[in-house]
Amino acid sequence: MNILNVTCLTKTYGKSENKCEALKEVTLSIEKGKFTSIVGPSGSGKSTLLHCMAGLDTPTSGKVLLDGQDIFSLSEEKLSALRRQKLGFIFQSFNLIPVINVYENIVLPITLDNRKVDREYIEGIVSILGINDKMNKFPNELSGGQQQRVAIARALSNKPEIIFADEPTGNLDSKSTEDVVMLLKMCVDKFGQTLVMITHNNDIAKLSDVCITIKDGEVLKNG
Ligand code: ADP
Ligand code: ADP
Repeated sequence: MNILNVTCLTKTYGKSENKCEALKEVTLSIEKGKFTSIVGPSGSGKSTLLHCMAGLDTPTSGKVLLDGQDIFSLSEEKLSALRRQKLGFIFQSFNLIPVINVYENIVLPITLDNRKVDREYIEGIVSILGINDKMNKFPNELSGGQQQRVAIARALSNKPEIIFADEPTGNLDSKSTEDVVMLLKMCVDKFGQTLVMITHNNDIAKLSDVCITIKDGEVLKNG
């Protein structure tokens, strides 16, 4: 079953001679509960694709259906609510808030949305990620790998259906990279979530169920 259907997605930046076609009529599907990796050379359109699929950026033309819902037909307000309730985001920079502790960082998306924290669920994630003893620490007291685990826990805290990760291990050494991706995979497997990840790292792509190769704004390979 597909959770996400992308049809004829085109994104053009700039105008006339400065025009850049970042995506050219990309059509693909993301299977529910699977780990899909997106690979391809720098500048091939991976981030643009991920941002459009996650409703963070608007395509020039084409559609993105999430659970059958055309996300760009929604008002900005409804799209924002959908992002907060159904999606999770992990980026290369951890973007943790330095003045609040780890636990407060993790539950921030839920408290900002005035929702109740499911402590048992949060404890489950935190324990898989092995950061139980870090809850009262502040971000600057943790290593890069530990901070990225906190960012992962934060991305999962709202029980997202689908998690979008853009080079989440770009700032980590190779050992932390593999650990972080394995732990993320364990979390999403346990809760039946869907993971879509951009990576430059072939060892990471090998861990995915489906690997999509993008080149010059087009899907080169899907399988
Ligand atoms: P990747 O993630 O594969 O490195 P991107 O999606 O970031 O590729 O970029 C695809 C193409 O679109 C590149 O040629 C890039 O220069 C261009 N691009 C990306 N973002 C913008 C922007 N905000 N304005 C203009 N061009 C952009
Ligand atoms: P709101 O509209 O309620 O302020 P947003 O729609 O801006 O919320 O953000 C929803 C989610 O998407 C948040 O979890 C936020 O971290 C993420 N997000 C939004 N825009 C970006 C972006 N440009 N880069 C990284 N994350 C983003």
